Amino acid sequence: MVSNQMYNKRTKIVATIGPSSWDKDTIRKIIRAGMDVARINFSHGEHAKHSESIDLIREVAEEENRVVAIMADIQGPKIRVGKITKPIELARDDVITLTLNEADGTDNIVSLPHPEFVLDIAVGMRLLLDDGNLEFEVTEVLPRSLVCRVILGGVLSSRKGVMAPNAHLTLSAITDKDREDVEFALSKDTDYIAMSFVRNPDDIRELRWLMRHLGKDAAVIAKIEKHEALENIEDIIEVCDGIMVARGDLGLEVPAEEVPYHQKRIIRLCNKLSKPVITATQMLSSMVESPRPTRAEASDVYNAIIDGTDAVMLSNESAAGRYPVEAVETMATIATIAEQNIWQSRSPGWSTMSQKTGSEAISDAVSESTYYISESLNPRAIVTTTLTGYTARRVARERPRTPILCVTPNETTYRLMALVWGVYPLLVPDFHTIDEMIDVITSTAMKYDIVRRGDTLIIIAGVPFGLGGQTNLLKIHTVE
Ligand code: PEP
Repeated sequence: MVSNQMYNKRTKIVATIGPSSWDKDTIRKIIRAGMDVARINFSHGEHAKHSESIDLIREVAEEENRVVAIMADIQGPKIRVGKITKPIELARDDVITLTLNEADGTDNIVSLPHPEFVLDIAVGMRLLLDDGNLEFEVTEVLPRSLVCRVILGGVLSSRKGVMAPNAHLTLSAITDKDREDVEFALSKDTDYIAMSFVRNPDDIRELRWLMRHLGKDAAVIAKIEKHEALENIEDIIEVCDGIMVARGDLGLEVPAEEVPYHQKRIIRLCNKLSKPVITATQMLSSMVESPRPTRAEASDVYNAIIDGTDAVMLSNESAAGRYPVEAVETMATIATIAEQNIWQSRSPGWSTMSQKTGSEAISDAVSESTYYISESLNPRAIVTTTLTGYTARRVARERPRTPILCVTPNETTYRLMALVWGVYPLLVPDFHTIDEMIDVITSTAMKYDIVRRGDTLIIIAGVPFGLGGQTNLLKIHTVE
C-alpha cells in the first residue's frame, strides 16, 4: 500500500483532527496533501466523535491507497481551576486564593479541585495560569488553600489550566479520564498513544502496564513538556517508541527562550537512539486565520527538518483553523524544500558516535554502510525487511537520499512506520528464507509500480528472520 507519491516527501506530517477537518472531504484533502499520522486530541471532544473520525480516516486512507497511522493523545494530569461565575480581572499585587473548598470566584476565591497538587506547592513558588497569560506567586500555604499574589495580571475565567514550573509534582501520571481514554483508544486499535506530562521512564512503564492489563498494546509517544522530563530525557527515550517535543507546555515549564535549545538537543538524542521524534505546537500558528504562513513559521518548520525531526505537527491549524488543507500543503512544501538541502548539513557517523557493542554495533555499521553505498550506486530504493521496524529506523537516521522501503509482514510495524522519516511501508506476505524474501520484495514492489526490471536495490535485513533487534545482512540486488 504505497502510492506513487512515495518519492515526493520524506518528512512525516502529524495533523490534529478536529471540527475543521473531521468531515470526509477535508480528511481526503489532507491525506492527499501529505498527512501521515492523524492525531486525535483527547483533551477535547467525546468518544463517539473520536470513534467516527478514526473510522473515517481509515476508510479514506484505504480508498487513497495510503497508510495513515492514528495517534491518540491523552490529556494527562492537567490541573485546572474550577467554575468561575464571572471572569475576574486581576492586576499586579492583587491577592487571590485557590482553594480545595467550593468557590465560584467571588471575593477572588477560586476553586482548585486537585488536593494532590495543592500538597506539592510551597511558599514562594510561581504558578502560571491560562498558558502563561497570568502569573501568581504563592505567599501562604494553608491546609486547604493557596494564597497568592498576582505578578502578571489579566482575566481569569473558568477551567483555565494551572502549572507550577518549579514544583516536583507527585501526581499520578495517568488520571481516571486517561484510563477511560486509553481503554477506548485500544478498543479502536490506535497505533500510537501519546502520553502527556511524562516525567520519567516509570510513567511510560505505568502506561504499558495499564495496556497489558487491558489486554492490548499500542506504541507509546512520550510528550516532553515537564522540566523533570528534560532531566530524565535519555532514559525516557530508551523506554518509549517515540518522542514529541510538546513546545506549548514545555514553554511554560521552562522559559520560552530556552525551548529551541531543548528542541535541538532532544532531536539529536532521538536520532542517536533511532527513535522517531515529532516537533509540535505553533509551527504554523498564523495559518489558523491566514492562508499563508509567516516567514518565521516557514523557517521554524524548515530548521526542525534540517535538525533531524522525523515529523512536524499541526495542532489548532488543522483541528480548528480556517485553512486545514493549506496548512498541511504548506508543511509538505517546506519539507520538500528542506529535504533537498538536508544532505549539505548532515553527515552520517552515528555508528562511531553511539559507541555500541555486539549486535547494535553491527546494525550501526550496516546502516551506515548502506548510506555510503546508496550515495555511490544511486539505487532505486533501500529496502529494509523488518518485523519490528528496527532496521528501518536505524537506516532512516542516516537520512539517505535514496527512499527507504520498509517491507514487513507485520501489520502493526507497517502502520507505525508512517511516523518515521523517509520510510515508505509495504505490507507483504510472510517469508522464511533469503530467496523468499527477495521474491516477496520484488513481486510486491513491481505490483505497486515502485520498481522496474533492471533497477538496483540495496536490501538490508536481520537474519535469522523474526528475532528483531539486529541488522546483519546487506545485499545489492538487480531486479530481473
Ligand atoms: C503541547 O503542549 O505542545 C502539546 C502538544 O500538548 P497539548 O496540545 O496536548 O497541550
